[in-house]
Amino acid sequence: MNASLSPVMHRVLDASLPLAEAGEGVWIADASGRRWLDASGGAAVSCLGHNHPRVLEAIRDQAGRLAYAHSGFFANAPSEALAEKLLARAPETFRGGAVLFLGSGSEAMEAAIKLARQYWLEVGEPGRDRFVARDMAYHGNTLGALALGGHPSRRAPYAPLLMDVARAPAAFAHRLARAGETETAYAARAAAGLQAALDANGPGRTAAFAAETVSGASLGAAPAPAGYFARIREICDADGALFIADEVMCGMGRCGTYFAFEQEGVAPDLIVIAKGLGAGFMPVSAVLVSGRVAGAMRAGSARLANGHTYMSHALACAGALAVLETIEAEDLLARVTPLGAHLDAALRDLLGEDRNVGDIRGRGLFRAVELVADRDTGAPFPASDGLADRVRAEGMAGGLICYPSPGAEWIEPDGTPARCGDHLLLAPAFISTEAEIEQAAERAVGAVRRALGRVR
Ligand code: PLP
Repeated sequence: MNASLSPVMHRVLDASLPLAEAGEGVWIADASGRRWLDASGGAAVSCLGHNHPRVLEAIRDQAGRLAYAHSGFFANAPSEALAEKLLARAPETFRGGAVLFLGSGSEAMEAAIKLARQYWLEVGEPGRDRFVARDMAYHGNTLGALALGGHPSRRAPYAPLLMDVARAPAAFAHRLARAGETETAYAARAAAGLQAALDANGPGRTAAFAAETVSGASLGAAPAPAGYFARIREICDADGALFIADEVMCGMGRCGTYFAFEQEGVAPDLIVIAKGLGAGFMPVSAVLVSGRVAGAMRAGSARLANGHTYMSHALACAGALAVLETIEAEDLLARVTPLGAHLDAALRDLLGEDRNVGDIRGRGLFRAVELVADRDTGAPFPASDGLADRVRAEGMAGGLICYPSPGAEWIEPDGTPARCGDHLLLAPAFISTEAEIEQAAERAVGAVRRALGRVR
């Protein structure tokens, strides 16, 4: 096939993409048999690898009976069972809650925005029509999700189309803590930024605050400082604003617990999950709705004007249910923290002293390496170098799928624009062996060194 004539938009934009033909465990192969070690599950998606037999069997079974029945006419067993299982994993405040199934992380974020708004309409506070989200956040590419996002270059072309969202600072100690500031003091200062954004919206105006519990593609597997989310919860409660945890990337076991916020000791009001939910077998996402919000809707209008053709898709939900059952049956969650520590150790061993490595961070099997021009000052490579793209290309050339991103941008208090270093994200499957984890780290280091022009 002539890639330069491909009508598929992704290949119109990048004709060099190879054609993926087959998946086997943590490997993807093209038709010639060339193989790539998938060390990031694409974008932190494929937590079970690519052809897990148990999931394939469940999908075949469901497809043989019923793939789709419109959610406006029928309920279906897989979505009922999946919703029950997810709510049983959620905090106590989700008893009596509900789950909305959609197709992508962005769709689920859009639905969370609408659910938050709908809640306030139901309880008689229609003035709560504003949102707060953080600098440098990524919440998706549809217009509502993009409006919550804090990524200047993604937003710029569509800025006139985006709703106005008040901004709170990112919680990213590695870049934003002041010299000598303790983690506790930094956490309090970052959380105070939320208070300022709520105040800017005005009392009784904010519907919800949205944040990634562990920042994914934007900041590169960056957990918040200890105590930040506990303070965030208090601040939201005092204002009345709902808290939306965007766990599209960091949730579903990726950080070592089903939900990353479990490690923060807080419970959100709405939980958004996607990538690891369908694990790449099915395009499926979900919003978990707490008992309070679902209860207000049941007692109120019982309407949400957010219909999507493929909502609660039976086949998609059967695939996701099988993913969850597989994680449980094979006790895969127990592997995430030790395998993550193994990956972290391998990366530190190979890159810990590297002059161009500014930070190695993450939780569970969600890890990132930040690349900088100067390790002492943390100065990034210029954006025009396109380092992230080079790492991606060198990874692919060396048989590795990793997930590099350009450094996030922010504005210093004195108004100067600033940038983090480019980073590469590694999010291996939970079924990876230690040898595959080591191989992933070695190939990632090779890609970085070649991208930096150190070796050819
Ligand atoms: N939220 C977060 C934290 C994400 O990382 C992403 C995707 O990377 C999204 C939302 C959007 O998900 P999707 O690409 O499935 O629309």
